[in-house]
Amino acid sequence: MQNALLEEQPDPAQEHDAAAPWHAQSGEQVLAALDGSPEGLSAREAARRLAHFGPNCLTPEQPPSPWRRFLHQFHNVLIYVLLAAAVVTAGLGQWIDSAVIAAVVIVNAIIGFVQEGRAESALDAIRALLSQSALVVRDGRAMTLPAEQLVPGDIVTIQSGDKVPADLRFLSAKSLQCQEAILTGESLPVDKGPGAADRSAALGARGCMAFSGTLVTHGQGSGVVVATGDQSEIGRVGTLLSKVERLDTPLLRQMAAFGRWLTAAILLLAAGTFAVGTMVYGFTAPEMFLAAVGLAVAAIPEGLPAILTVTLAIGVERMARRNAIIRRLPAVETLGAVSVICTDKTGTLTRNEMTVRSLAVGGLLYEVTGSGYRPQGDILLDGRPQAASAELRALVLGGLLCNDASLHESEGEWLADGDPTEAALLTLARKVVLDPIAVRGSWQRSDEIPFESEQRYMATLHHDQEGLGRIYVKGAPERILEMCGSTDNVWPARLEEMAGRGERVLALAAKDAPASKRSLCEADMEDGFAVLGLFGLADPPREEAVQAIAECKAAGIGVKMITGDHGATAQAIAGQLGLANCASVLTGADLDAMTSEELSLRAREVDVFARTSPEHKLRLVQALQGRGQMVAMTGDGVNDAPALKQADVGIAMGRKGSEAAKEAGVMVLADDNFASIAHAVEEGRRVYDNLKKAILFILPTNGGEAFTVVAAVAFGQVLPITAVQILWINMITTVTLALALAFEPVETAVMQRPPRRAGAALLSGFLLWRVVFVSLVLVLGVFGVFLWSRHTGTDLATARTAAVNTLVLFEVFYLFNVRKLESSPLEGLFSRSARVAWLAVATVLVFQVLFTHAPFMQWLFQSRPLSAESWALCTAIAASIFLLVEAEKLITRRLLHGD
Ligand code: ATP
Repeated sequence: MQNALLEEQPDPAQEHDAAAPWHAQSGEQVLAALDGSPEGLSAREAARRLAHFGPNCLTPEQPPSPWRRFLHQFHNVLIYVLLAAAVVTAGLGQWIDSAVIAAVVIVNAIIGFVQEGRAESALDAIRALLSQSALVVRDGRAMTLPAEQLVPGDIVTIQSGDKVPADLRFLSAKSLQCQEAILTGESLPVDKGPGAADRSAALGARGCMAFSGTLVTHGQGSGVVVATGDQSEIGRVGTLLSKVERLDTPLLRQMAAFGRWLTAAILLLAAGTFAVGTMVYGFTAPEMFLAAVGLAVAAIPEGLPAILTVTLAIGVERMARRNAIIRRLPAVETLGAVSVICTDKTGTLTRNEMTVRSLAVGGLLYEVTGSGYRPQGDILLDGRPQAASAELRALVLGGLLCNDASLHESEGEWLADGDPTEAALLTLARKVVLDPIAVRGSWQRSDEIPFESEQRYMATLHHDQEGLGRIYVKGAPERILEMCGSTDNVWPARLEEMAGRGERVLALAAKDAPASKRSLCEADMEDGFAVLGLFGLADPPREEAVQAIAECKAAGIGVKMITGDHGATAQAIAGQLGLANCASVLTGADLDAMTSEELSLRAREVDVFARTSPEHKLRLVQALQGRGQMVAMTGDGVNDAPALKQADVGIAMGRKGSEAAKEAGVMVLADDNFASIAHAVEEGRRVYDNLKKAILFILPTNGGEAFTVVAAVAFGQVLPITAVQILWINMITTVTLALALAFEPVETAVMQRPPRRAGAALLSGFLLWRVVFVSLVLVLGVFGVFLWSRHTGTDLATARTAAVNTLVLFEVFYLFNVRKLESSPLEGLFSRSARVAWLAVATVLVFQVLFTHAPFMQWLFQSRPLSAESWALCTAIAASIFLLVEAEKLITRRLLHGD
């Protein structure tokens, strides 16, 4: 039968010719056709099918072959210029120069190839972290498996917020809706249910099917997998669910545009130099051609794009190590500019380890002792242990029944499965000696309305052995009291008291139901309930969140708590966390009553928002953005997606977040922890600083070389550095040194300065000034050494060697100026964090010694050995840059900030 299945299984592509298509068959027929059962497949059968059908993933787009990637490195205007230069110099019989140019081009391509590969593999590793999982029944047991392991015939359960893991034929569904825009273009969610559809129904009208990659926006359901991987509808359409992301960000684009502009300008300048040299000074054409090539090579920052890309890739990697998984690369840059973080409370700022601390029942307020989920503790009244009263037991029993969680003990530790709020009620039940399994056995559940954040309640219908029916509802007290029509003032007073201590408060109510009633709907929730009592649950703040909030404060970043919890609870927790403005709280209802203008005024000064729903999050983001803020916003639910998309940095929770939220976010927080957001911001600032440092380092070097060539030609001098020597400096030494900047650790002061202005151009006036200033120092130094050497009777080749070494040593010293934007360059100069910089310096010094003294290098680059005095002179002149730039930093800081 099983082999027959594999052969007979209708190929979805041909299903229209063969049996009726899946959506036109009943659930039982589909299950039978796939040889499945409601108990799911056996592990063995599933493995067999996996081997036959392959993993449930779309065949990825073929990445370009290594050869193509390598050849792509040559696709660059500068390289074209260099290749042309190699050909022309060969034509002129300058074989060595021609070979050196060609060799440098190839070495450069290899470096680019390796760095790009490194960056790409960093991204691949990140993508792998975002794999999807699915809730599937195998061997009669529900289990969570990686979605890739699904096979046709598997029984899968999906619920609101999930991404459908494979094509499913529903067997059951409750208030289920899916959004299928990715397949049908229709952005409104469509209703789903198990009833078969018309044979000719279009994709969007197949209500009994869910398609891989679409989103569940409401309800829950379970179905049998009918197609996986490339066989699914999405696979057949050929759309890739997650497009492969390129290493690209606004800043990289800005730099690429700048690079193109610069290249065009330099080529013009080079042509001008050629013209002036040949016509005005009477240099020969071949001589001037090499000078013009030298100028082009000198001025174009060829290493810069690769360095920027590597800096970003390293940033992404480091963020992932600190639990922030970047889904869209521009986020790395934006993170550094974030000025407000709007965050959920439960589980992000708090530990989400709930413990019932107090109970309000029968006009009394009890205290509960014990910690965590361990069912050990007492019920106290006025500090004295009490036996549980009948009313108290009735309350606890309701909390146990209207509950989907379970507890288990493992190696002496009590652990919760399911919602921590509900698990805490189970621990409480055990403390009053109610056995969850026995109670749940004698009060069978007939139906339920699952908890949804928007409704803020959960209800269950139970029947005992005699058929007696009872409905329990638990949820936000305001909501439950409304259902009970209670006008009793005692409950609201108790609620305020418990919430004021930072406890999350749940109310529980119940009413009887006839034995014949077997299903629940929202209309059943309207009235007739009687309150049984209130539970007060403690959820302590995360210690690291307290520290992270303080760090954000120092870094000029506002932190706003946006929670579904009660205002008083939120306010008390905000106080414990040290949020800046927690004197007043705005609730969802307050926000509804405000116009956008009012909201944008108040949103700035209030830090606690309670009883909010996802629409409020969206309005808040817009209000803050309207005030020029860069907003990071966290979210977990399916309805948080619009707010996450609107935010400058949408952050989805990795653990409790829905797939819908993860799709919408640019970043996923692997540990759901607020402290990780603060780390990511810090890392974002570091990346931005390092990008800036790379630019600050590379551009002046190019400027210095370019001015040297231009000045030489303008004054009718021979070039102090030849074209091939410039090529050596730029492509070998500059890149080696600049690469060290990509690894620079964070500066200590980085989280003590305000966020950078959103949209502030990186290529600022300051940067241009620095480029010009350093370029001029370099020109003076290089020319000075060259002319001095010539003056003292040194031959041209030796004088040039001294000029080259001066320039490279200038770079070495300047690297240490650039390493620190704000703090002293001497800070941590010999610490571990400076290792990469020293390694780069050592490498470059070895290169320079070879360049100067190794015979084959002398043959290639026309270099000559230098005397010890010459080396000392070059070093002394080069060292001046360090002092000059530090003096310049002091002066500009005084001028700009007056400090
Ligand atoms: P955030 O994560 O945004 O800080 P939250 O997770 O605390 O907010 P929700 O989970 O939406 O907010 O909970 C809102 C309210 O719903 C809670 O204050 C509580 O009264 C009620 N509630 C929470 N969990 C349950 C549950 N499992 N059953 C019934 N009611 C619940």
